[in-house]
Formats: sequence, C-alpha cells, structure tokens
Amino acid sequence: MRGRGSMRSMPPSTRDFDIAIIGGGPAGLTAAMYAGRNRERAVMLECKAPGGQLLNTELIEDYPGFMSILGGDLAAAMEQQAVHFGAEVVRGEVRGITVLPGGTKLIETYDGDYRAVAVIIAAGGNPRKLDVPGEAEFAGRGVSYCAVCDGAFFKGAHLAVVGGGDAAVEEALFLTRYANRVTIIHRRRDFRAQSILLDEAREHPKVDFITDTVIETIDGDSKVRQLSLRDLDTERRSTLEVGGVFIFVGFIPNTGLVDSHIEHDKAGYYLTDPMTMMTNIPGIFAAGDVRSQLTRQITTAVGDATTATIAASKWVEEWRRGRDDTAAELADASARGAV
Ligand code: NAP
Repeated sequence: MRGRGSMRSMPPSTRDFDIAIIGGGPAGLTAAMYAGRNRERAVMLECKAPGGQLLNTELIEDYPGFMSILGGDLAAAMEQQAVHFGAEVVRGEVRGITVLPGGTKLIETYDGDYRAVAVIIAAGGNPRKLDVPGEAEFAGRGVSYCAVCDGAFFKGAHLAVVGGGDAAVEEALFLTRYANRVTIIHRRRDFRAQSILLDEAREHPKVDFITDTVIETIDGDSKVRQLSLRDLDTERRSTLEVGGVFIFVGFIPNTGLVDSHIEHDKAGYYLTDPMTMMTNIPGIFAAGDVRSQLTRQITTAVGDATTATIAASKWVEEWRRGRDDTAAELADASARGAV
C-alpha cells in the first residue's frame, strides 16, 4: 500500500493549477481523489501526514462500508486511492492565500508559491484543549473530543463532559446511549447552550451537573480513572471517579489563511452556498470542518468535498470560457477597429 510518507515536493516550474486543495484530512483527500479521477490539474497541499483528525482517532465505527477501521488505516487508504487516480499530493505548509487581480489565487507556502484558478479550503480545525495535566497523556485512553466517534467504547461507564455550550450538552445527551451516568462539568452557573437542550439534559435521569467548577488534573493508570476538581466559588477541591472525559470547550477552525474577508458564522466557520460549497469569494470553496454546518463527521467532510470538487471544476470551466469569450470579443472588436 502506498500510504503516508508518499508525499513529494514539487519543482517550481509545475506550480500552476486549476484547483488547489488546502488540507489533507478526509475532505482534502476526497477532493484530491475526485480531482484525480476527473483529470483536473489539481494539487493537494498538506503540511503534515495526510489524514487530519483521522490520525487522532483510534477506531472508526461510523464510516460506511467498514464495521470498524483504525483512523490511520482509513487515512492511508484514502491517500492511496487519491494518488492511484492521479492526484498530486504535496507536502507544503500554506502561509497565506491572496486573490490576484483577474481572480487567480496565489497560494504561498514555506516552500514557494502556487497559483490556482479555484481553491478548496479543507484545512479542518482542532478541538480547543483544556490544557490541564493528564489531558494530552490520556488522549485516546479516556480523553476524547468526539462523542459520536468514541461514545460506544464507554458502555456502562460514568463519563464526564466538559463545557457549557451546545456541543457539550448535545454530546452529553448522545453519550447517555452508552454511559450509565454522564456528569456535565461547567466553569460557570450559566450555560451558553440553548434552553431546549439544557431542559432535556436537566430532565434526563442519567445526566447530572457540576457547575462553577474546573478540572485541575486528569488522572489514571493505563486509562482515565479520576478527575481532580476545583469549585471556583468556594475553592473547595474534590475528586470524581470516571471512566472517561469528553471535552467540548469549542473548536478552532483553520480559517485564517485567506487574505480577503470570507463570510463566516459567529463561531468563525465559513458560510458556503449549499449547492456548491462556494464561499462569498468567487472560486474559493470550503469543505469539512472549516464549513458552517450542523455536524462535523468524516462522512459530512467527504460529502462536502465531493460537491466542492465537482462545483470547482465547473467553475474553472466557466471562468476559462468567460476569459475566452472576453478574449474573442476583444479580438473581434480589434479586427473591426473598435479598440
Ligand atoms: P461554545 O458555544 O463556544 O461553548 C464552549 C463552552 O466551553 C462554553 O461554555 C465555555 O465556557 C466553555 N469553555 C471554553 N474554554 C474553556 C476552558 N478552558 N475550560 C472550561 N470551559 C471552557 O462552543 P460549542 O459548544 O463547541 O459550539 C460552537 C458553535 O457551534 C456554537 O455557535 C454552537 O451554537 C454551535 N453548535 C450548535 C449545535 C446545535 O445547534 N445543535 C450543536 C453544537 C454546536 P463559558 O460559557 O464560560 O465561556
């Protein structure tokens, strides 16, 4: 299998493309696969090993066609498929994207520049971390940032969920399918979450709340066993025995790359046309976790990228036709002595 590590750097003379795909998670790899199959002049740029969040996920059980598959194996298979169909998968860290006069996009990387007519931003993002001792150590061993991905591994457990927004409350409710008790720990008394979700959680027999409280450390042995808590009102310290802790204190989309203002929602995710995945900037498309949407799954990233790539390819064709028409009109006008 031609897996991760197959990425190459590219000589400067070949750096003009129709489509540049920024990011190599499931969305970027799907876009690269479709672009390769459609024989587009496309490049996918990824600064790390391809796979994105897949590489932070131990076991995936919600990707159709696989009863269960390791995140790393799915990433390698997606890359292999993209490369098999002729995609250019290149290692490069993008520093910025500028829309040039005329509409072409300039993509600056630490290894030189690329130009493309259309850009698909599939740069993903990262869950915000608590930054407490034990969080990194127990990641994948009881610390999780994805209830849909990992909830099923905690059947019958007592779980903690951290956060007070929609994601925390919604995911806590989801986790009640597996856990026998879910404790939501929030640093304030007031919640950002919608009252409808909060009411549902308050009425749920498996859900309880600890408010005005932060986690100081996450402790365990081979996996998470206990949280050390501090009450911010009383400064009283306590411990809570849990089988796992799900952290939902926000997600940080990688949306800072483009020079122009791209319209986004209040949490910073790009707003896109639902039909094409195009942002408000002509020729800039978004797919996967950078995009404003209801849920962020591997399957939704893959779906976004499929739409974005097909739409980008049509957009490039129209852009070229427009330029040809303009050139033909100019040539015609020139022949008539009008210019
Ligand atoms: P969010 O609304 O920004 O909430 C983040 C929560 O984490 C807040 O309660 C915040 O506490 C807490 N927090 C942040 N940093 C923390 C830290 N270091 N330690 C402890 N707690 C911390 O984020 P979200 O819930 O991920 O939602 C993001 C966006 O997606 C929102 O616009 C949300 O409405 C939307 N969303 C919607 C749905 C839905 O409609 N069904 C579902 C999920 C997400 P404070 O409140 O004290 O700041």
